[in-house]
Amino acid sequence: MLANKEQPAARAGLYGALPSRRLSDDPTQIATQPPSPREAPRVVVANARCLRCGHALAGLTTPVCPECGCPFEFGDPATFATDEFLSQGASGLRNPPGWILIPLTMAAGLAVVTLHSAVVLDQMLTSLLYVLLIGPTLALWAIRTVYALVISARSSIRIPLTRRERLRWLGPPLFIVICGALGWSGAARGLRWIIDEPLLRAEAARILAAPPPTGVLTADRRIGTLTIWQTKVSAGRVHFTTTQSDFLNNVELVYTPPGATPPPQATPLSGPWSWMMWHY
Ligand SMILES: [Zn+2]
Repeated sequence: MLANKEQPAARAGLYGALPSRRLSDDPTQIATQPPSPREAPRVVVANARCLRCGHALAGLTTPVCPECGCPFEFGDPATFATDEFLSQGASGLRNPPGWILIPLTMAAGLAVVTLHSAVVLDQMLTSLLYVLLIGPTLALWAIRTVYALVISARSSIRIPLTRRERLRWLGPPLFIVICGALGWSGAARGLRWIIDEPLLRAEAARILAAPPPTGVLTADRRIGTLTIWQTKVSAGRVHFTTTQSDFLNNVELVYTPPGATPPPQATPLSGPWSWMMWHY
């Protein structure tokens, strides 16, 4: 008697306790299904697959995917995949982005920030990274989101996402939005300049106080976030030639102290600073 009174075993797993239903436990199933032998397949569609993971459901007697625990309804084609598009697409698209898209998203976000934090955009590098990395990553996200929404809309079951899955769906897009805001608004460039400017200014003062004998110092060195490969004193100004370029020419940051005149071809930056393209 005790054994008969036992509730169906709760299914432990990612999605919490999903009671496995039996024919005798569920009055709606008794009403819609003929009293056939218990081992008879309950899903008549031969190619029925789990909406979540794509596992084949034909032949099951319990309306729960044995692979991932996703529930479905017998006789309701909206709760399982029945066509090629859904059965093949569901597992990859319904599930949150995995370990290929997440690193891609991180790389794309960092690329946006790095490219747009330079004084002048490197045209070639920017085009390459937008075409090969940033654009495709954004497109993948758009496709995945639309597919997930379409499949969700076609399913009457709301599949509860775990905390970790929710984080995987929301974290990377949030990261992209933050990186995009930093890069495209110019905030990253501003922040970088806040770090580099005092260090460059101190270096300019030091060079002006004790100029190199030839007036030119050619040596790779780090100043803040910049790599300076040449420092030159010219007409009372200090020219820092950076490794940044617009693809063709390197960017030169020019410090013009009070009393000196900035080079005519330079573009003003802020305070005593301006920038110009370095030419041979
Ligand atoms: Zn499944």
